[in-house]
Amino acid sequence: VPGIATVRIAQTAQRTTRRIIAVASGKGGVGKSTVSANLALGLQALGRKVGLVDADIYGPSQPKLMGVEGSRPQATDKLLDPVPTPHGIGLLSMGQLVPADQAIAWRGPMAAGALTQLIVANWGDADTLVVDMPPGTGDIQLTMVQKHKPAGAVIVSTPQDLSLIDAKRAIDLFRKAGVPIIGLIENMAGYACPHCGELSDPFGKGGAETAAGELGIPFLGRIPLDIAIRTASDAGNAAEAGAFREVAVRVDAWMRAA
Ligand code: ADP
Repeated sequence: VPGIATVRIAQTAQRTTRRIIAVASGKGGVGKSTVSANLALGLQALGRKVGLVDADIYGPSQPKLMGVEGSRPQATDKLLDPVPTPHGIGLLSMGQLVPADQAIAWRGPMAAGALTQLIVANWGDADTLVVDMPPGTGDIQLTMVQKHKPAGAVIVSTPQDLSLIDAKRAIDLFRKAGVPIIGLIENMAGYACPHCGELSDPFGKGGAETAAGELGIPFLGRIPLDIAIRTASDAGNAAEAGAFREVAVRVDAWMRAA
């Protein structure tokens, strides 16, 4: 049928330019995976077609966060098919390729090759890939910036000075590779009381915002330490908490302007 053929050609011609948003931190445990999952959901809620890549070989947590723990991707035409999640976002994770107890044995080239398999995959019409990076500045990060050229990077830090120092190293890696820094997110910033909702600041306040100013990068917002965020995450339901919405709106605006 001529009509169908025309539609097919039109779809091929309209191939999306897919953009990678790397979510990085200087060290582990600062909430980078939580931010990645919620940023992916937030950008999807704003109308983007989002895929999620979990490149954190040391602690791949996205299958659990996205409610598809134990899933294994199939392959079509030698490329991996992202696993559909209940949230409607496709996911590929290092955790689906490497058994948890073998991650340490994966040296540089293997890990870098695995990253490429996750990124060069059957992402279909996804226009945005949110990539949860491993913490620090190793082989996976280098492959990421040199080979896959992210459109921009989001840096996650806690308010404590130590993780801010580490965050500065991560920022440096992207800067040297010419990857724009979209901004810094301060996570676990203040404690939201589960009873009355009042915010207190056990680690001090404003450190990350000041650091962002000093580094000349935008501040994307503060996410409080909130038990509701942890329990939703543990339940495989990284449900777009209100605190993350503002961050997604800012990243979306950055993508429009870029
Ligand atoms: P990373 O990816 O940096 O190692 P995770 O996203 O895995 O960090 O977060 C570490 C732990 O902290 C997880 O148990 C997660 O649910 C919890 N967590 C992260 N951010 C918050 C937050 N804002 N409020 C409460 N718990 C959080």
